[in-house]
Amino acid sequence: MGRYLVTGGAGYVGSHLVHALVDRGDAVVVLDDLRQGHRAAVPAAAELVVADLADAKRLAEVFAGWRFDAVFHFAALSLVGESMRDPARYIIENVGNSMRLADAAVKAGVLRFVLSSTAALFGDPEVVPIEEEARLAPANTYGDSKLMVERGLDWMDRVHGLRSACLRYFNAAGADPAGRAGEDHDPETHLVPLAIGAALGTRPALTVFGDDYPTPDGTCIRDYIHVADLADAHLRVLERLEQGSCRYNLGTGTGYSVKQVIEAVGRIGGRPVPHSYGPRRAGDPAVLVAGSAKLRRETGWAPRFGTLDDIVRTACAWHNAHPQGYGDRG
Ligand code: UDP
Repeated sequence: MGRYLVTGGAGYVGSHLVHALVDRGDAVVVLDDLRQGHRAAVPAAAELVVADLADAKRLAEVFAGWRFDAVFHFAALSLVGESMRDPARYIIENVGNSMRLADAAVKAGVLRFVLSSTAALFGDPEVVPIEEEARLAPANTYGDSKLMVERGLDWMDRVHGLRSACLRYFNAAGADPAGRAGEDHDPETHLVPLAIGAALGTRPALTVFGDDYPTPDGTCIRDYIHVADLADAHLRVLERLEQGSCRYNLGTGTGYSVKQVIEAVGRIGGRPVPHSYGPRRAGDPAVLVAGSAKLRRETGWAPRFGTLDDIVRTACAWHNAHPQGYGDRG
């Protein structure tokens, strides 16, 4: 049994990892300020500490109270558009909080750190699928803030021996197959929940951002990876950290277009997705697909919910059961 600190563990991807850790009998402390996270997303078996990562004193207390084996760091600002309106805030919060957390971990003797990173590190890629060695060229402040954290963690390894795994997520989607957690952001900007909400009538009709991309059907292609598979990758990478720091791109290696997502939601949910076509969204590359060979080879990971239908099926089930999400918005 391990003991883990999970920041942002009440959020979308974080809560799915917390469930996976608790399911295998680990002790988990979730540190979350509940700005985006949901109390109801945290399983009863995990301890929830409601605190801000900027609070160094509180952080030190949390580390002093437990002998953690590793830290999983999910808590971050993650809206690309917002990051381009207020870059300083993204750098101050994402980089400052991450380094404060890494520092607290090292001071407490915790030398294993897993970072939620992002495909936004690669900007508009020159080559697809995107391998780990691809050029790092973030096209927005959000992506660059994560790159700065990755680089900060490199230094923490060289200087203090803090081993880190930086996991560059492609498009996290889907919901806990057991129905215990799902996707509920405010504001919601992600395609799958917006398409399902449009079909259910709980959200307005979907606007497709551009149908003039150089792709077979003209809409953008993304690599949607199921959150339960993402959680599984975190557990495998934790083992891999015993051999040293590592960096992985987390996707399935298969891309789907916006039109394919709309079709799947309509077919699986049983109601068509009302939608119209609008202009492109600034900064959206035509195709983002991960090269997943390194992750598969080095950790034995393989997606268990590897098709778009698996993703849409679990997401539809959660949204059908929770039409207002976790229902804790004012
Ligand atoms: N998208 C869209 N309409 C929306 C939201 C998203 O057409 O209301 C498209 C977006 O342009 C991208 C894909 O859906 O090609 C996935 O977008 P999302 O915001 O879910 O993830 P991102 O790729 O930005 O991380």
